[in-house]
Amino acid sequence: EGAGGGEGERGPLQSTADGIIEGLSRPVQFDGELCHFGASVGSDIGMACASGPEIDPARLLANADIALYSAKGSGRGRAEYFTEELRKAAESSRILGNEIRKALEDGQFVAVYQPQVDAVTGELLGAEALARWRHPVRGLVNPGEFLPVAERLGVAPQLDQLILSQALTDLARWDAMGLHAPHLSVNVSAKRLADRNFHAFLAEGDFPKRRLSFEILETVFFDRMDDVTRHAIDIMQESGVLLEVDDFGTGHASLSSLLDLAPNRLKIARPFVTEIDQSDRHKQLVRSMIAVAQALGVDVIAEGVETRAQADTLIELGCVAMQGFYFGKPMTADAFTEDLRRRRDRRGRASA
Ligand code: C2E
Ligand code: CA
Ligand code: CA
Repeated sequence: EGAGGGEGERGPLQSTADGIIEGLSRPVQFDGELCHFGASVGSDIGMACASGPEIDPARLLANADIALYSAKGSGRGRAEYFTEELRKAAESSRILGNEIRKALEDGQFVAVYQPQVDAVTGELLGAEALARWRHPVRGLVNPGEFLPVAERLGVAPQLDQLILSQALTDLARWDAMGLHAPHLSVNVSAKRLADRNFHAFLAEGDFPKRRLSFEILETVFFDRMDDVTRHAIDIMQESGVLLEVDDFGTGHASLSSLLDLAPNRLKIARPFVTEIDQSDRHKQLVRSMIAVAQALGVDVIAEGVETRAQADTLIELGCVAMQGFYFGKPMTADAFTEDLRRRRDRRGRASA
C-alpha cells in the first residue's frame, strides 16, 4: 500500500517489497532459538516476531499488521515492531469502534452549540455546532475521544450528516419560536467532501442559504486540494452555503490557494489566541492573519478566546468576531435555547 508513483514504478517497488517479505519470513537462528518473522510492507513496515516450537503464522501476520498500522499512524516511511502494548491499544480501539457504530445507529450523537459574538457590541453572530456523544454510562463525551476512531472507521461523514441535520432542525425550531440565531457553522471532515450524500444535500439546497457555513480544516486544502475536494468546494459555493477555513494558521495553505478558494471567513486557530498576550511573535502572527483576511476581503473570527485581555488585544488588532469560553462554552440545544431567550428578553428591555 502507498507504494505510490506511476505504473512504471510499481513493478520494482513490488518486487523489493516481496523480497523484504520473503527475506523476513525466513527463520533466523538467534540466541540458540529459531525465530520466525512476519512482515507486512508498504511505504511503512510492520514487524512481528515469535520464537519457539509452535508458531501460528496467521497470528504472526496479524501482529505484523497491528505494528504496520501503528507505523502508518506515526508518519510515513516508518518501520515498527509489534508489542503487547500495541495489541492492547488495537483491541480497545476495536471495541470503541464497535461502540461508535452502535451509537450511530442508536442516535447517541448530539449537537452542542458554542456562541460566536461581536466582542465590541456583545451581539450574537451565530454559533458553531459541535458533536458530542451522549454515552449511556460516561455522559457527554468530547470529539477528541471518538472522532479519530470514527474517521478511521470511515463513519465521520455519517456523523457530520447527523450533526448537520440536528443543527438545521434546531435552527428551524428557533426560527419558529421567534428566537434569533442568525447563523450556524457546521464542521465538515475531509472524507465528507467526497461523500455522495453530501453532494446530494448541496444539490437539493434545502437549507437557509447564507445562514449556514461549513468549516473545513486548513490542512485539508494544504494536503489534498485534489479534484474531488475542488468539485465539492465548487458545488458548495454554487449552493449558497458559506465556507470557512477552520484552524487557520495551522495548515500552511498558500495565499494563492486561499485566493482560489474564495472562502467567506477565516477562523484564527486557538493556539495563536492563547499566546496572544504572552508573546509578541504570536501577536504579530495574529496581526498578519487578520491582514490576510482583509486582503482577501473575507471575514475573520478568533477561536478559543478565554480572557478579556485576549479579547481586547484582538479588538485592537481589528478582529471583533470571537468564539471561546470567555463568551460561552458549548451548550446543549436546550441550554442554547435558554441563552437565545435571555438575549431576546434583554433586547426587549433595551428597546422598551
Ligand atoms: P474545532 O472545530 O476547532 O472546535 C473548537 C473546539 O475548541 C471545540 O472542542 C470547543 O469546545 C473548543 N473550545 C472552544 N472555545 C474554547 C476555549 O476558550 N478554550 C478551550 N480550551 N477550548 C475551546 P470540541 O467540541 O472538543 O471539538 C474538538 C474538535 O473536534 C473540533 O475542533 C472539530 O475539529 C472536531 N469536531 C467537533 N464536532 C465535529 C463534527 O460534528 N464533525 C467533525 N468533522 N468534526 C467535529
Ligand atoms: Ca470547527
Ligand atoms: Ca477550530
